Amino acid sequence: MPASAPADLTLYDPFEGMQFSPRICFLCGASTVPGQDSVPVFADWLLDRYQLRERSIKLLDMSIVAYPGLRIACCEQCRTRHVEPLEAHLEQISRQGVQGFRELDEQLLFLWLGKMFYGVLVTELLNELDPLAVPRYPLAENAQMLRRFQAFFQPLQALRVPMTYEDFVPGSVFILETDPAQDDMPFEYDDDLSTIAFSIKLNETVLVACLVDNGIIRQAMRQVYRQAQRPLHPVQVAEFKARVYYAAYLLNVVPDYYPRPVQAGDREVIMDTLIDDTVGDIFNPWDNSAYAQSLLEMWKRWQLPLSEIMARPEEPLSFLYDAHGQPRHLERYPEES
Ligand SMILES: [Zn+2]
Repeated sequence: MPASAPADLTLYDPFEGMQFSPRICFLCGASTVPGQDSVPVFADWLLDRYQLRERSIKLLDMSIVAYPGLRIACCEQCRTRHVEPLEAHLEQISRQGVQGFRELDEQLLFLWLGKMFYGVLVTELLNELDPLAVPRYPLAENAQMLRRFQAFFQPLQALRVPMTYEDFVPGSVFILETDPAQDDMPFEYDDDLSTIAFSIKLNETVLVACLVDNGIIRQAMRQVYRQAQRPLHPVQVAEFKARVYYAAYLLNVVPDYYPRPVQAGDREVIMDTLIDDTVGDIFNPWDNSAYAQSLLEMWKRWQLPLSEIMARPEEPLSFLYDAHGQPRHLERYPEES
């Protein structure tokens, strides 16, 4: 595109009238041809590098989908101008390991994670529209959840429309590093669709995010995050994830986003945001037994029983901190072996 050509600054809202379909580009709303116009949710470079072509993920309706089968409708223009260049860039970045991600522009990282998350979300929503499917947790029927998804899509449009976030970051993204000597999982992925929490692990880099909180969780967890800036044992990373996922669950606000009206000659959209916290607290109160459930889930691999996690109910088990609240260095786990 010649530098002088004005970019299309028209925004799109697929939640208006719930326009989710294999015939509509997820990013701009243009018509697409099913089977022809689509992009993989997990890019081909991820599928190849982490041997995901044979692996599957379980969706909310308990159906199993192979990673390569996860695709979203995307027109040729959005694919070649926006999605593929971003994926190519991230492939390069990922080769530099955790340092590459730490130096990466925050907006690009948000957009890349957001595109994957959104792809999974749309797959789930489309599944629900299938009359044969009986979802366990119908996403589309929950007004609060839909409002959150719709909010999340506003800043995500920066993937297509040049956009500046005026004085805010749309999500909390944490970049962690595992200790390679203690780590044998090159790839991991999990999400909590209802709270827009998301985590992906690429070799020693673990990215954990809540993508629709305007950075509130990162602010709330800044000390824990600072103290976690060191190679961690995977059981410690899992604890960190449990904290982020539980915080996302407690988050009681959904940001509103307001694009400023576009004037002739504008080259980007300026996005403003507002959080209405007059209706109540930003976070619902912390509850250790609920947090312990989050730990139980994240520590499944290590089969830690709830009785051990809650041995001291006022202070659930921690591998990130010792009994004196000091950051712990964990050589191995289980520690005695
Ligand atoms: Zn498009």
